[in-house]
Amino acid sequence: MPLQGHINPMLELANVLHHKGFSITIIHTQFNSLNPTTHPHFTFHSIPVELSRTEASTNDVMAFILLLNVKCFEPFSECLARLLSDDDQEPVACLISDLLFSFTQHVAENHKLARILLRTSAASSFVAYAAFPLLLEKGYLPIQESRLEEPVLELPPFKVKDLPVLKTKDPQKYYEAVSGLKKAVEASCGIIFNTFEDLEGNSLATIRQEFNTPIFPIGPLHKCFPANTSSSSNLLSQDQSCIPWLNTQAPQSVIYVSFGSIATINETLFLEIAWGLANSNQPFLWVVRPGLVHGSEWIEPLPSGFIKALNGRGQIVKWAPQKNVLAHQAVGVFWTHNGWNSTLESICEGVPMICMPCLSDQMANARYVSHVWKVGLQLEHGVDRKEIERTIRKIMAEKEGEEIRDRILMLMEKAKICIKQGGSSYQSLDGFVKYILSQFAIQSQRQ
Ligand code: UDP
Repeated sequence: MPLQGHINPMLELANVLHHKGFSITIIHTQFNSLNPTTHPHFTFHSIPVELSRTEASTNDVMAFILLLNVKCFEPFSECLARLLSDDDQEPVACLISDLLFSFTQHVAENHKLARILLRTSAASSFVAYAAFPLLLEKGYLPIQESRLEEPVLELPPFKVKDLPVLKTKDPQKYYEAVSGLKKAVEASCGIIFNTFEDLEGNSLATIRQEFNTPIFPIGPLHKCFPANTSSSSNLLSQDQSCIPWLNTQAPQSVIYVSFGSIATINETLFLEIAWGLANSNQPFLWVVRPGLVHGSEWIEPLPSGFIKALNGRGQIVKWAPQKNVLAHQAVGVFWTHNGWNSTLESICEGVPMICMPCLSDQMANARYVSHVWKVGLQLEHGVDRKEIERTIRKIMAEKEGEEIRDRILMLMEKAKICIKQGGSSYQSLDGFVKYILSQFAIQSQRQ
C-alpha cells in the first residue's frame, strides 16, 4: 500500500521474516515507488500503477484506497502469476497483504495461496471499525455534530468524536466497505497486528472473541529488528541536519512536532501552532511537510522575521528521521497527530505525547493515549496559541507531566520485554512462523 504509514510496518515485517529465514518478494506500485537498493536482501517487482495528480491526492483517503484496489488488481494478478509459474523461483509460502488491499483476497483464492493480512494500525481502532454495523444500527453513525461529546456506551472508552471516520465524497460507500471488514478478515488465513499484549490486551481479547481468524500481535515491529538507516523506506528524503541541532539542546527540553504523511491543516491552525510553539519558550523541531498547509507549498504563511526572531530555538524541516529524533535524549515531548506508527514509536522511546488527531483511526489512538494509558494530553478544547502554551507547560513542567512521563517509561519497558525471548510478541512471532509453514504444507498438498 503506497502510503508511508503502511510501507514502514510492511517493510519492518519483511525484515523480521527475512531474519527468520524466509526469502522476501515485494510487489509495489510505480506510484510512490520503493527504492530496491535500500533493501538489497529483498526481491522487488514494480507493477505499472500510475496515478494522475488528482487521483494521487490523499485529501479523500477512502476514494484513493478504493481506486488503488481497482487499479492494482490486474497488474498485481499478472505479476503474481508470473512469479508462481517461474520454475527458478523458490516456492511461495504465503501472500502477506495490507488489510486495506481487499482485492488480494480474490487473487490469492485464484492461485490457492494462503493470504495473511497485516493490520498497520491499532487493535483498539480495529475493534471500532469492526463495530461499524452496530454503530450504524444504533445511530452513532453518521456522526452528528450535536453528539460529538457523547460516550459510545457499547464501545468504551470512545466518545462519538473518537470514532474512526473519514471525510469522503461517498460516505455510504465508506460505511459499506468498513462493514465488510469481518467477512474480509474471516476470508484470510490470519491477521498480524503491529501491537503487543501489554498495550492492547483487552482489544486483542475482544478481537479473538469476535473473529475466528488466528491473530498475531507481534509488534512493535520497528523494534524487532535492529534499526538501520540504510534500509529506510522514506518517500520523502529525511533532513538529517536536525540531529546535530538536537545534540546542542538540553536533555528532554525539545518539543518534536509532526503530523505524519497524510494529515493537512488550514492556515489559521498552522499560525496558531507556530505562535503557540514560539510563545512556549521551549526549543522545538517541527516537521512541516510540503503540502501540510492547505493552499501553501510550504511555510509561506509564517510572518516575515518569524524564524529569525526565534534565534535558533526552533527548527523547521520538511521530513525528519523520526525514529532517531524520538530516541534522542534532547526530545521531551512529541506533539503528534497520533498515526499508529508515530504513537507506537513514541511509546517505545518513552516520550510523552501532546495529541492532535486529525482523521480516521488517529482519534481512537489519541483517546487511548490520553485516557487509557494516560501517557499524553489531548488538545481537545480548540487549538489556539494559549491552549497550546498551557498544554506544553503542563506536560513539561508540572506534576501531571511528571506522572505522564513515569507511565510512558513503564510502557516503554513493557514494549522492550515483549519482543525478548519469552515475551508475548516473541512467542506470537514464533507461532506465526510455524503457522505459515503449516499453511504452506496444506497448500502444497492441494496443488
Ligand atoms: N515519519 C518520518 N519522518 C517524519 C514524519 C514521519 O520518518 O518527518 C515516519 C514516522 O516515523 C512513521 C511514519 O512516517 O513511521 C508515519 O506513520 P504514522 O502512522 O504515524 O502516520 P501517517 O503518516 O500514516 O498519518
